[in-house]
Amino acid sequence: MLVDTHAHLSFPKFEKDLDAVITRANDAGVTCIVDVGTNLETSLKAIALSESVDGVYAAVGFHPADSIKANDDALAQLPELLNLEKVIAVGETGLDFFRDYAPLDVQEKSFRAHIHLAKASNLPLIIHSRAAERRVLEVLQEEGAQDVGGVLHCFAGNAEQAQQAVDLNFHLGFGGIVTFKNSAALAVALGVPGNRLILETDCPFLAPVPKRGKRNEPAYVRFVAEYLAQHGNLSFDRICEQTTANATSLFGLGASCEG
Ligand SMILES: [Zn+2]
Repeated sequence: MLVDTHAHLSFPKFEKDLDAVITRANDAGVTCIVDVGTNLETSLKAIALSESVDGVYAAVGFHPADSIKANDDALAQLPELLNLEKVIAVGETGLDFFRDYAPLDVQEKSFRAHIHLAKASNLPLIIHSRAAERRVLEVLQEEGAQDVGGVLHCFAGNAEQAQQAVDLNFHLGFGGIVTFKNSAALAVALGVPGNRLILETDCPFLAPVPKRGKRNEPAYVRFVAEYLAQHGNLSFDRICEQTTANATSLFGLGASCEG
């Protein structure tokens, strides 16, 4: 059993064959999927999907790229959504210094507001950090985000930053990038304490080898687990068991996710 802890099934790339995508995930042993919102529209779509499909859960928030939309009116709509049964996290939120999606002060204001919402609703955070790990960790610390914890998804920081995240009560999420040739993320992933490692696809993006370059989908989280098993000290079964248990307890997923 595996959990894809970060998917974007509400993106247009899945419009035509979403049922088949979910069936393939289940056939590959991916019992549960966290569908992650990036703005109000995709968050509402994630909620609708979670309410109609067993094993799909929703996260609600504004990606840094959409942080300009996270104005007071939009943020005021989130608490009600965060109360819904299948909404299990706040996000994705965070900082992206790689692309100038939105002014940095706008990104940071939205990020801090999401941390406040997570604490008020007692839900974990799903955090996007690109070329911004140092600042993300500072903001998490300043805002006391360790009270709720969460995940630094698609983690691309170094081992020291991974440890800082662990010390702040966060998990680290890894996906297709660990399978890329000469990926620095592989050694970082293999060094993460076993109880803090979770797996994801970030689909439709970043498909792992051997599907690199194609549309990614939740079934492919299996390739990430296989790759880590080949290059680390744990068997495939043990990685599945451990990462699924971690995801289930972090996000409070149903027992059926563990099979
Ligand atoms: Zn994402």
